[in-house]
Amino acid sequence: MLHQNKEVVRQQLLTKLEDLSRRDSRDELIRERCNDPMDQMQNRFEMDLTISVINNDWETRKAIETALKLLAIDEYGICQDCGAEINPKRLEAIPWTTLCVYCQDEYDCTGVAASPPKYRRAA
Ligand SMILES: [Zn+2]
Repeated sequence: MLHQNKEVVRQQLLTKLEDLSRRDSRDELIRERCNDPMDQMQNRFEMDLTISVINNDWETRKAIETALKLLAIDEYGICQDCGAEINPKRLEAIPWTTLCVYCQDEYDCTGVAASPPKYRRAA
């Protein structure tokens, strides 16, 4: 059950997706080679940081795409793991979330996406 206007949510998701597309951090990975060991260390550190930003963006993009698909089939707001309704406040804060807070906790702790989804809609 969706408490928010579907179109509003869709726009939110698309806007965020656009934001992410505009921000391409890959350019930051291109660096000049330097011989100073301290500079090399600093470079490596910054590179790791950039890579984690890229990973994060990529995960968010994937989540947004999934959320858009779920919106289209009227399953938006339903946890893709347990099938419970996702708290509307949580959806407001993170419109692209596809997991309820309990399943998200589990995911964050184990680092494993609950896949294959335990929740299957009876066809
Ligand atoms: Zn859940």
